[in-house]
Formats: sequence, C-alpha cells, structure tokens
Amino acid sequence: MKNTMNWNFDNSYSRLSNSFKEHIEPVAVKNPELVLINDDLAKELNLDFSKNDKNELADLFSGNILPEGSNSIAQAYAGHQFGHFTMLGDGRAVLIGEHLTKNKERYDVQFKGSGKTAFSRNGDGRAALGPMLREYIISEAMHNLNIPTTRSLAVAKTGENIMRDTPLQGAILTRVASSHVRVGTFQYVAARNKKDELQILLDYVVKRHYPELINSKNKALELLKALIYKQIDLVIDWMRVGFIHGVMNTDNMTISGETIDYGPCAFMDIYDPKTVFSSIDKMGRYAYCNQPAITKWNLSRFAECLIPLIDEDEDKAVKSATELIDTFGKKYEEKWLNMMRNKLGLLGVDNKDKFLIVDLLTWMHQNKIDYTNTFCHLMDLKDYDDELYKDNNFQNWKKNWQERLKLNNNTPESYIKLMRTVNPLVIPRNHNIEDSLEKANDGNLKPFNKLLEILKKPYVQQENISDYLKMDSSSKEYKTFCGT
Ligand code: AMP
Ligand code: MG
Repeated sequence: MKNTMNWNFDNSYSRLSNSFKEHIEPVAVKNPELVLINDDLAKELNLDFSKNDKNELADLFSGNILPEGSNSIAQAYAGHQFGHFTMLGDGRAVLIGEHLTKNKERYDVQFKGSGKTAFSRNGDGRAALGPMLREYIISEAMHNLNIPTTRSLAVAKTGENIMRDTPLQGAILTRVASSHVRVGTFQYVAARNKKDELQILLDYVVKRHYPELINSKNKALELLKALIYKQIDLVIDWMRVGFIHGVMNTDNMTISGETIDYGPCAFMDIYDPKTVFSSIDKMGRYAYCNQPAITKWNLSRFAECLIPLIDEDEDKAVKSATELIDTFGKKYEEKWLNMMRNKLGLLGVDNKDKFLIVDLLTWMHQNKIDYTNTFCHLMDLKDYDDELYKDNNFQNWKKNWQERLKLNNNTPESYIKLMRTVNPLVIPRNHNIEDSLEKANDGNLKPFNKLLEILKKPYVQQENISDYLKMDSSSKEYKTFCGT
C-alpha cells in the first residue's frame, strides 16, 4: 500500500532472532469494513488517514493490505494463567511493526483478531466485534483517566462470522502500545534456558523502555526495581478508579507498565473489595482487593526469570531479588495511603489518616454505596446527592474528615482542586457499556460513540449525562467473559 498516511516503521523487535517470534502476515478476510477510527490518536501518532477512502482504510485495518515498511510477526511469550505456567504467544494477533512519531517516540502497532499463527494452539485466531469494541472503549477511557494503557486506533469488521456459543461477527482491533513485551516474554525465554537470549531481551527492554539504566552495574536488578515501582503505580491507579482487570496473568503484565488486554475487565460500582466480574474467576484470584498481591506475585515470577542475569552465584542473586520483592508491601501501602489522601483532599500526613480512610471504605462496603459517586458527593457536586449520604454514620465520619481537612493550611479551594484531579466524575459503567455494545452489534454506533465522547472528559462536569452516573440495579449479578 502506498504510504500517503505517514507510516514511519522501524521494526526493532523483528530484527531479534527468530526464537522471539514467528514471521507471519495477517490472514486475509473476506469482506472488510471499517467500524471506527480514532482520529485523536492518529493525530498524536502523526498519522494521516484523510487521503484514503473507506475501502482503503478497511483493507488496511483488516490486515488485507499491509502498509509500506511493516514487517509483521507473532511474538512468542509464556505466562502463568491463573497460576499455571503455559507456553503461549500471539495466537490471534500480529505486530505489524513499530511506528516512529515525529518526536521519535516508538509505538507497536498490532492487529488483534488477525488469524491463526504458530501460537494459536486450538484457537481460530479470530476475535468478535463486541469484545474488540469493548477493548477499544475501555482502553480509551483508561487513557483519559490518566492511567498508563495500550490505546486503540481502529476496529474493522472482517465480514466473516466466527463460531463461539453462537455465530458472532468477526472483527480486528488495531492496538497501539509502547511495546508488547510482557513478563511472559521473559518467562518464555527463561523457560528455554538460554542465558544469551535472556541477556538480549534484557538489553532490548532496557534500551527501549528504561534507557536511564543502560549504564547501571546490575541492569537486571535495576530493571526489577524499576518495574516494581511502575507496577505499583499502575495498580494504585486501578484501585483509585475502581478498575478490575479481571485476568492478571503474567502474560498480561507489560514491562512498560501499561495496562494491557481488556478481556473480562470492568469497573466496580458498589464498593466491595471482593468484587469479581469475570465468569471464569471462580476463586476470586483477580478480585479488586487481590490486585496488589497479584501484582507482587507476578513481579516475583519476573524476578525468577532474571536470576541468571543478576549474579553468577545463584544464592546471591536470589537474595538480592528477594530483598527487592520484599519492599513491595511497604511501598504499596505508602503510595496507596497517599492516593487515598488525594482522593479525600488531605494535605500532609496525620497518624489517624489510615483509620479515616478505612472507616469511609467500611461504611461504603456495609451500606452498598457507589465508590465513584461517594467521592463526587464529597466534592459537593450536584447530580451526586443521595438519601444514602444522610446516614448518621456517614455524617459522623464527614465531621472527622472536615476536622482533618483543616490541617496544614488546607483551604476548600485547594482540597477541591486536588480531589478533582484524582476522582473521576464518570467511569465506564457496566450497563452503559453493555447497552452500547449491544446496539453496536446491530449496526447502531450512536450510543457507543456518545459514551466514548463522555468518557473523554472524566474529570470535567458535563451537562445532561445523568444516565451515565448511576449504577445498574442488577450490578451485583454482572458477569464478564474472556474476549475470545
Ligand atoms: P488472552 O486471554 O487474550 O490474554 O489470551 C491468552 C492466550 O490465548 C494468548 O496466547 C492468545 O493469543 C490466545 N488466544 C486467545 N484467543 C484465541 C483465539 N481465538 N485463537 C487463538 N489463540 C487465542
Ligand atoms: Mg493476553
């Protein structure tokens, strides 16, 4: 395809040896049709699709015609899925290449749902329209919530049905990420016992994502430390907005620190730490409150991969890695407290802060109160008034909170300003998502686009959006499914 779109590929991962990937092109589809294109993201990437008609864009975003300079591959990786180790890889995705923006920022461009690869196992390599639109809207919502995430550039229908419980419309999502290297990528290489390849991957990742570590004495240990920080920040962001990833397998944890793989994820409405939406997560391994512990567990698996590169002496290496992993709990607690202080507009530190925070969460939990809206109520916003907040226990808590607010020269202007930067006024609510996807499946994209628009400004008060601010009465029974 002639490059009128400003693609600027430089495919560094493709240049690694073939043990890291398979060279493969997307499998052509019958009748491609463009469903969505993300103009804002295209602009950020310095891409220009304005000179192309719908058919050309459909050919592009279905993978039928690859852009000039691409060199498509399926990446190899492994992963602990619900605790069990498996060799995996891109079974239904291809990385078409790495695009460089004018500022030389490097982004992976990946087609998800693009057909079978060497890693497909028993799968058909395809994805359905609903889950691809779901990933599109939730990943974009996460981006607008200021949470590191992969982005979504386009969705195209393939014009082919795929067989699940019922026949579903096939679709391909174009995903953009700062890279797709995962904890599972390291696990794949480590499992093959090839120390030289492990070193190549480490060097690659440090150069691409942590260039400040290039000259460090112990790159492996420093990378582990950096990733611990990155992932703590990420999971705290999730906890802040009530996001439940749903399938925190090690293959779904990036080395860049971006949220990836929006399968059965969903946002919590009623505050309940044990909330799980995923239909397959029977034991609640990935419940809201378990996300920090699972992050640590995944980081421990990452640390294990790095052992041969940390020190020739295995005992020494294990000791150093363990010491770092053991810092997780304290760091997490500190950062979580600060995040919650911000949500409540509190300045400085008071030794009763933790009690104040836990009291509020306990009240929300016991009274089945909406997490997002409670903070909106505390910011005195209209639309968030509710009889529930007249409750005596809440009013008593509020008095303590107001006393605490007086510390450290805080003023209503400064605490409201602080609260408004971290408390979203609108989140992707499950019933709004489901409703918009159902209509999109029937060809009506209006509700989907409206929701997408609203979710662009989660920290800004918007008129006439009350339908998007309420939880669904049947929310407790809400179930999500893996995006297969
Ligand atoms: P996920 O649940 O999307 O993180 O996928 C886990 C693994 O299953 C990855 O290796 C995917 O590539 C693979 N996979 C998921 N769905 C399919 C499919 N329909 N065909 C082939 N592989 C798949
Ligand atoms: Mg995955």
